[in-house]
Amino acid sequence: MRCPPLFKTCPTVCMTVSLAVVGAGLFAFAPLQDAPQAKEWGVHDRARPQPALVTVAACCAAPSDAKVLFGGSDLSALQSGDGACKWTVENGELCVAPGSGNIQTKDSFGSCQLHIEWMVPETCHCEDQHGCNSGIFFMGRYELQILGSNPNKTYVDGMAGAMYGQYPPLVNACNPNGKWNTYDVVFDAPKFNADGSLQQAGAMTVFLNGVLVQNHSAIKGATAHAAKAAYSAHASKLPISIQDHGDPLHFRNIWIRSLAE
Ligand code: MG
Repeated sequence: MRCPPLFKTCPTVCMTVSLAVVGAGLFAFAPLQDAPQAKEWGVHDRARPQPALVTVAACCAAPSDAKVLFGGSDLSALQSGDGACKWTVENGELCVAPGSGNIQTKDSFGSCQLHIEWMVPETCHCEDQHGCNSGIFFMGRYELQILGSNPNKTYVDGMAGAMYGQYPPLVNACNPNGKWNTYDVVFDAPKFNADGSLQQAGAMTVFLNGVLVQNHSAIKGATAHAAKAAYSAHASKLPISIQDHGDPLHFRNIWIRSLAE
């Protein structure tokens, strides 16, 4: 397993950043108001419950409480439609089978922390949205764009690190084709009222290669192409899908931690 380039020489820093990402996600869900059942803890209250102990084998490897979605060979956590995953495994990497369609997790997820590494092969030619496009669709509808973006000029809310059609990344931290990129994401699922109206927008915090590119960006609705995003009520947990945009991207080291509401 590997550390993002920024932290290659310091696994401790990397682990600290990972824990900070988790902390940020949990903080985002901390009930600030309207939670009468929540206990008000005093400063330095020694009765306050200890956080769960989580062990990390190495930088960017799945921590002990994560679910591994792809670790190098087993495709059993993924599927194409209702059937077996049609993407292939080569040299421990999950490879898009262009034209076979998106894949998705068998399990459903709401708020979560996701780690995923992706690479555009050096042989790919990126031009605008073509040649090296994929994406991660949280709950099957909120896309964190994957696109070879170093170099590749396109509309900024469609480049690597963008919430597609909604927010550009804060900076372009994408590696050149042929090199691996790492996404560490805290996804906050939206909430809906009983009548289907939006109660609370979802949000994404995203690190690309260890660099913050989305800072708890409020999701405007389901991803749409050349159209304004809009919400429609859905289940509290749904599969995550990875996009087949017709380009032969590779993935590895995919793991997820569900976050408490
Ligand atoms: Mg895409």
